[in-house]
Amino acid sequence: MINRDRIVQTFLELVQIDSPSGEEAAFREELIRRLQALGLTTEVDDYGNLIARLDEGAGEYFLLSGHMDTVEPGRGIKPVIRDGVITSDGTTILGSDDKAGIAIILETLQIIKEKHLPHPPIEVVLSVQEELGLLGAKHLDMAQLKSRSGLVLDGGGSPGTIVRSGPSQDTFQISIKGEAAHAGVAPEKGVDALAIAAEALVRMPLGRVDEETTCNMGVINGGTARNIVPDKVLLLGEARSRNNDKLTILSDIIVKALQNAAHSRGGEVIIKRERAYDAYRLGDDAPIVQAVARAAQDSGYEPQLIEGGGGTDGNHYNAANIQAATISAGMAEVHTLHEHIAIDDLIGCAEVTLKTITLMIK
Ligand SMILES: [Zn+2]
Repeated sequence: MINRDRIVQTFLELVQIDSPSGEEAAFREELIRRLQALGLTTEVDDYGNLIARLDEGAGEYFLLSGHMDTVEPGRGIKPVIRDGVITSDGTTILGSDDKAGIAIILETLQIIKEKHLPHPPIEVVLSVQEELGLLGAKHLDMAQLKSRSGLVLDGGGSPGTIVRSGPSQDTFQISIKGEAAHAGVAPEKGVDALAIAAEALVRMPLGRVDEETTCNMGVINGGTARNIVPDKVLLLGEARSRNNDKLTILSDIIVKALQNAAHSRGGEVIIKRERAYDAYRLGDDAPIVQAVARAAQDSGYEPQLIEGGGGTDGNHYNAANIQAATISAGMAEVHTLHEHIAIDDLIGCAEVTLKTITLMIK
């Protein structure tokens, strides 16, 4: 039922409008134009998120969500089609994350309209700055949303892939303060901030902590010169777990390691620790999981339930009691210059989405 040429055309047009995180305005204007042409009302919240509604329909509002921003290098994208697969020209990402999701939303709305398909009222939410840590969804006023369930079109894998869980994440910005001194003349007058960082780092459980928990210190900056005892070090890191309690315990260990190292060497540590988002997990019997699984089967695809390793806007929806499943939009190797999408996958994911929507009329 999906119009192959049209959805491909839409996708190609969308990826050619630049929308790196924080610079979504022009892209958002284009989406407002397209959504209004499809009969939806639109509004933009204070943070820049786009909310659109198709108020007619039977039953409860159903959420279709995606994000408008893309990662870098994502400017001047020139899509190339070869053997049924769309890629960039190799100098940028493609932007199928998440413009495949948005193309699917637009195409399904278009089909519903032109075929007069029965459907529930639909709420479309397209967030900003998702790639910066789900910031748009974090600042979204969830109380104003009318949906209690929905889809986040922001996954990869074959059509029918359902990301049924997402980890929670803590972020760390750590400033270690020591005391500068001449490294040759009077090192004993100094407090070595780099040594504090090193001592703390070896006591942190880094990498894969267990099957549902990971930890990474990704940036270290510090020191001023070869012959000066380093007095400042900045560390940036994160920890994730699909279990909120495990994450809290892990983050406490990180904080303790830093405090102990600073204390033993006479330095100081200032830690900015933030719970970016909470974990969620949808059960096999969750109505939205069952609906997508049935839609996939009806469309000729094997439903695949997978555990998520990264956050999506779905973390925030589920935390706000909106049961949202992140499903595949067909994208592959995202956040790399090899990012690509097979046209068959794009179509398949659109079919699963359309079928799921029509299954939501009770
Ligand atoms: Zn994404």
